[in-house]
Amino acid sequence: MTAILQDKETNPFESMMSRFDIAAEKLKLDPGLYQILRSPDREITVSIPIMMDNGQLKVFTGYRVQHNIARGPCKGGIRFAPNVSLDEVRALAAWMTWKCAVVNIPFGGAKGGIICDPAHMSMGEKEKLTRRYTAMLIDVLGPERDVPAPDMNTNEQVMAWVMDTYSMHQRHTVTGVVTGKPIELGGSQGRHDATGRGVMICCDQAIKRIGMKREETRVAVQGFGNVGSIGARLLFEAGYRIVGLSDINGGILNDHGIDVHAAIKHYQETRTLESLPGTTPCTNEALLEAQCDILVPAATENQITSQNADKLHCKIICEGANGPTTAAADDILESKRILVIPDILANAGGVTVSYFEWVQDRQGYFWTEAVVNSELERIMVDSFNAVAAYADKHRVNMRIASYMLAIDRVAYTTKLRGIYA
Ligand code: NAD
Repeated sequence: MTAILQDKETNPFESMMSRFDIAAEKLKLDPGLYQILRSPDREITVSIPIMMDNGQLKVFTGYRVQHNIARGPCKGGIRFAPNVSLDEVRALAAWMTWKCAVVNIPFGGAKGGIICDPAHMSMGEKEKLTRRYTAMLIDVLGPERDVPAPDMNTNEQVMAWVMDTYSMHQRHTVTGVVTGKPIELGGSQGRHDATGRGVMICCDQAIKRIGMKREETRVAVQGFGNVGSIGARLLFEAGYRIVGLSDINGGILNDHGIDVHAAIKHYQETRTLESLPGTTPCTNEALLEAQCDILVPAATENQITSQNADKLHCKIICEGANGPTTAAADDILESKRILVIPDILANAGGVTVSYFEWVQDRQGYFWTEAVVNSELERIMVDSFNAVAAYADKHRVNMRIASYMLAIDRVAYTTKLRGIYA
């Protein structure tokens, strides 16, 4: 029974839909619009035959789910992983619709995935898989239709292969078909730091909201990859006191503050955080429960659950990761009056700069990093304030407010467009 409950608590589709349902009810969403927004526009499953390096033919299953295009072309990553499922891709596609709507960029949501084990595939096999998947989706992708990006186990190189394959079919170079490309192929300055930078901007807005100053704010960050390490570095450089850091193998604490530059150097040299001089090692559970003002879960999903939410000591949670908090934990955090900056707002810096990449590709004119960062700041601050105003007006927490704002925006454009039949 406990296992069933836990599965339900951590299922990504259930998790997203439970928040969607609360927000839809509070908005008194029209039942017809409710049905439209709950259902993905299109789900595509492809069987991808690949000749492996050992001469054997193998057929992989791939998905692309386009959840909604009311506000513009679909946007969302492609992941390679053994446990990809249609249910998961469907939930992540809807999540992208809400995330793009929260930051008010003109995209709908999509997600793609291929069931494979990239750790046991050669570069050549991954290239063939990417190119054949792209070719099989050629009619549904495009700068005006659906614009993929990197996700779990895909990167700049995979995006370059998608762009090249799409361009070969179009008979000309189309850089705007994907984002997260290498700079030399139409990528954007500032994309690498964008999600961590968005996290820092959200923390700034949140402490302003509760009347704290950077220097007196203690921060613990879970995860030391792209989002966690860059978020921690930018917060440290801005004057926050970083009291905890962790990666999958465990964490480190120092209540007087950790020098994040030294931690990054140590991590590059040793691939571990433990043993950083002047810090005390801790488990990931202990890191989440550390004495701090802001907790930044920036590792993976389902870290804050009904099992540990009650043990947290922070005043603010800024969700760098996607889905780090379960819906059951939300209620506990609310009763503890912890301010949660929800993932669809807190980590939207990445998709915002992806939007800038798409704009620059279409303009054929590229911005400086300073322009990218200042445009990102404008959008993140406006979005934070829009969600906070919604929360105040409707007397709901920031999570439900962000869903309400997003659903309201998508529902409004759907109504304006009308139902074509
Ligand atoms: P990454 O692979 O670069 O880093 C992940 C980090 O989390 C690593 O340090 C890893 O050791 C750690 N980790 C993994 N499992 C852990 C666990 N159980 N406990 C503690 N640490 C653990 O990934 P990333 O790009 O930084 O993404 C992190 C999260 O942010 C994911 O949820 C991702 O979907 C989300 N996200 C990323 C971006 C982006 O631009 N990279 C944008 C939006 C959302």
